[in-house]
Amino acid sequence: MSGISGTSGTNSTNSTNSTSGTNSLVGSVIVVGSGPTGLLLAGDLASAGVPVTLVEKRPHKISNLSRAFVVHARTLEQLDARGLADELEAVGRRLDRLGLFGRLTVDLSTLPSRFRHLLVVPQYEVEKVLERRAVEAGVEFRHETEVTGLVQDADGVTVEVRGPGGEPGSLRAAYVVGADGMRSAVREAVGLPFPGRAVIRSVVLADVRLAENPGTLLTANAVGDAFTFLAPFGDGYYRVVGWHRGRDVPDSEPLDLDEIKEIARLSLGRDYGMHDPRWMSRFHSDERQVPAYRVGRVFVAGDAAHVHSPAGGQGLNTGLQDAANLSWKLAAVLHGRAEEPLLDTYQAERHPVGRSVLRSSGGIVRLAMAKRPWELGLRAALTTFLDHVGPARRRVVGQITGIGYAYGAPRGAHRLTGTRVPDVALAGGRLYEALRGGRFVLITPEVYGGGDGRKDRLAVERWASGRRTTVLVRPDGYVAWAAESADPAAIERAVAAHVG
Ligand SMILES: Cc1cc2nc3c(=O)[nH]c(=O)nc-3n(C[C@H](O)[C@H](O)[C@H](O)COP(=O)(O)OP(=O)(O)OC[C@H]3O[C@@H](n4cnc5c(N)ncnc54)[C@H](O)[C@@H]3O)c2cc1C
Repeated sequence: MSGISGTSGTNSTNSTNSTSGTNSLVGSVIVVGSGPTGLLLAGDLASAGVPVTLVEKRPHKISNLSRAFVVHARTLEQLDARGLADELEAVGRRLDRLGLFGRLTVDLSTLPSRFRHLLVVPQYEVEKVLERRAVEAGVEFRHETEVTGLVQDADGVTVEVRGPGGEPGSLRAAYVVGADGMRSAVREAVGLPFPGRAVIRSVVLADVRLAENPGTLLTANAVGDAFTFLAPFGDGYYRVVGWHRGRDVPDSEPLDLDEIKEIARLSLGRDYGMHDPRWMSRFHSDERQVPAYRVGRVFVAGDAAHVHSPAGGQGLNTGLQDAANLSWKLAAVLHGRAEEPLLDTYQAERHPVGRSVLRSSGGIVRLAMAKRPWELGLRAALTTFLDHVGPARRRVVGQITGIGYAYGAPRGAHRLTGTRVPDVALAGGRLYEALRGGRFVLITPEVYGGGDGRKDRLAVERWASGRRTTVLVRPDGYVAWAAESADPAAIERAVAAHVG
């Protein structure tokens, strides 16, 4: 890459720490923020041959303090489509059941996915895997470099930064993605509001060891004003999330283990001998979403675009799905295979999902906080309803795990268009292996000759079964186009339109 000087090589990443000069990186992308969203996005782009600079204000060190600790089935599918799921599964703990409000057991073992469970794994393990992939793909990391503003014009975006020694500088690229978290500087620089409100205050968190085994895999209960949730990481530590309605204090208020133990005793009847906390924190939870995920050449993704309560474990998962949706579109446009309007589908597809996540995680919190008799009655009725009515339960499970989301389809399109494709068996293997090249996958019962000149962006496969449907799968695992017949002219038209 041109114009970047001062490679420091201080760590294992491709890290440059100089910010002097303005770079003219036409055809490139600057990703701001090396949280999970930025790491997946940057890794995808670099794997697709797009020059990427990842700007991160922190020094290079993946924290061993975990925020998120749940990876859902759809995220595992996306990781599988990049050859990363097995590695993460090896360090996490699988749970195939969830208990809600003491009445409802959600069984994940029947999910229509290769991953019929959720994975309890610290966020830093997810980041570790994604960072290694991004490094191997050639992402250029700039740590200790803070984005302070940006200006866009017809040809690109100039990003103002402050480097490791506090020196100002600028970087330039064709597109910028703000994956810089809840207090996003990118969002602010393009003038996007972040409307919403605080939902809960003073939630306490800790990763602790327990003297007594809780006996079940996930433990959660609310009694009176107190709520506690316990989940095992599998390495001897448990994540405790507690909340007491009566202790509405600022996040800066000191926290000690006794406060957490007391909340646990109130809501679970015991504190299981919590000891040796490796991390404790107090936080409040907001529900906010940007009205637009794109402003010209600038995009926002992950927590920069939406935040909500941790209930349902959706934050990290939704951010990774944002990244998976945007990366192949940016790569297609930058390689000249798709027109700019493809980038607008990022907003059209991901904004409604973000809104739905805000609604579902907010709903879980409100049910957990139920106190008045009518609220408790409503909660009991709802959990009984979900326990007995399969389609409603499947809908909720589809939203929580992410596998239930589908994107819109044009009028008259085949019914599969926009839907997620499970890991179907192919004559030459399985779909999520075929997706590992970051390409479209055409699954057809007939011989298709149009793939030869498009090998860099299209894999052609046949069903393992005798199925007659022809399906063109996008790199993010959703149906771009489908037809019941295998008319060669229709397939060629569809491939030319979507794959280029
Ligand atoms: C207590 C807690 C528990 C949670 N539990 C779950 C869970 O179980 N499941 C789940 O899915 N989610 C959970 N979440 C949410 C999850 O942690 C976040 O949604 C996730 O980290 C968002 O990832 P991100 O990459 O979008 O943003 P972040 O992880 O916030 O990363 C943003 C990055 O941008 C960098 N940055 C910020 N500003 C700048 C700047 N100006 N210049 C350069 N770099 C910048 C930051 O240093 C940071 O590294 C939880 C969150 C909390 C707080």
